[in-house]
Amino acid sequence: MPARTWSRVLVTGASSGIGKAFAGLLAARGSDVVMVARDAQRLSELADRLVSEQGVAAEVLPADLTDPGELEQVARRIDSKTDPVDLVVNNAGMGISASFWEAGPDVATMQVDLNVRALVRLTHAAVASMGARGTGGIVNVASTAGFFPGPGGAVYSAGKAFVINFGLGLAEELRRAGSPVEISTLCPGFTRTEFQARGGFETSGVPEVFWHDADEVARQGLDALESGRTLCIPGTPPGQAQSCPCIRGSVVPPTTCHSERSPGRGGGRRSGQPSRAGSTRTTGSPGPTAPTRPREPSSRRRRRRGS
Ligand code: NAP
Repeated sequence: MPARTWSRVLVTGASSGIGKAFAGLLAARGSDVVMVARDAQRLSELADRLVSEQGVAAEVLPADLTDPGELEQVARRIDSKTDPVDLVVNNAGMGISASFWEAGPDVATMQVDLNVRALVRLTHAAVASMGARGTGGIVNVASTAGFFPGPGGAVYSAGKAFVINFGLGLAEELRRAGSPVEISTLCPGFTRTEFQARGGFETSGVPEVFWHDADEVARQGLDALESGRTLCIPGTPPGQAQSCPCIRGSVVPPTTCHSERSPGRGGGRRSGQPSRAGSTRTTGSPGPTAPTRPREPSSRRRRRRGS
């Protein structure tokens, strides 16, 4: 089956790691991209590269998704009637390697705000606007950490467990309602990105064989959505429903987990359809290991209106 081409995708956390890989992969397939993160400079540099190398339109939307006002700006962008988005990748996330009491309440609630609250808000915006337009897809990035309690990262693991159960439950709600919106939850394991350094995770003891590459994780996540699989654990062969921990005792039928739905539900732009090429626009661990110190969030808000 040829890869589906989405007209315009919005990727959160596009300035590095898995989100950057999603943006690059989708642009290479001809999708215009709207990229969200706090670091406007990095987003702008990536946008310029995607415009010149892929000939797509790239829009930079700097936002701190833990800020309620900035989160609403991103939700409004998803809801745009004039420049609609037909794929949302809720990827932005953070983890902190520290005990709950040592990290303090602000670090704990910040993780909930970013990993859970923002993802729920933007998923709602996507389901509402895509449902009304009759097409659309959502990839929510969880983690294999969501399948296990995580001492040293209790809030992170719990948040990712939320993302998994939320995604599987919502997928079933959408299926029962006959919605044109498709959703898949991506659960990476150890992936080489800035995540470990940002969160202070000590991963030197993790064997090489456990590590994934961000580009491959993004490719498998997108492939899962386009194949109608509601859950993707990179490195796990599709069809291994029985081995998926999420379905034990679940009301979600095993057939929706790691399984194929009928292809082609919804209707993004197919390969060869036009894009507004060549423009850049600005609008507006898996399981944690040993603790060190977290990086403080910044609220960089530099915005750029480009050619
Ligand atoms: P990463 O390289 O650290 O990227 C995180 C992205 O999120 C960056 O673009 C960052 O950009 C953005 N971000 C962080 N805080 C933000 C905020 N408050 N508002 C808006 N954007 C924010 O890590 P990654 O590995 O690619 O992580 C992507 C997702 O994969 C996360 O949800 C993570 O939990 C999940 N995951 C990662 C691994 C792994 O081993 N790497 C494993 C399992 C799951 P700015 O700093 O510019 O805002």
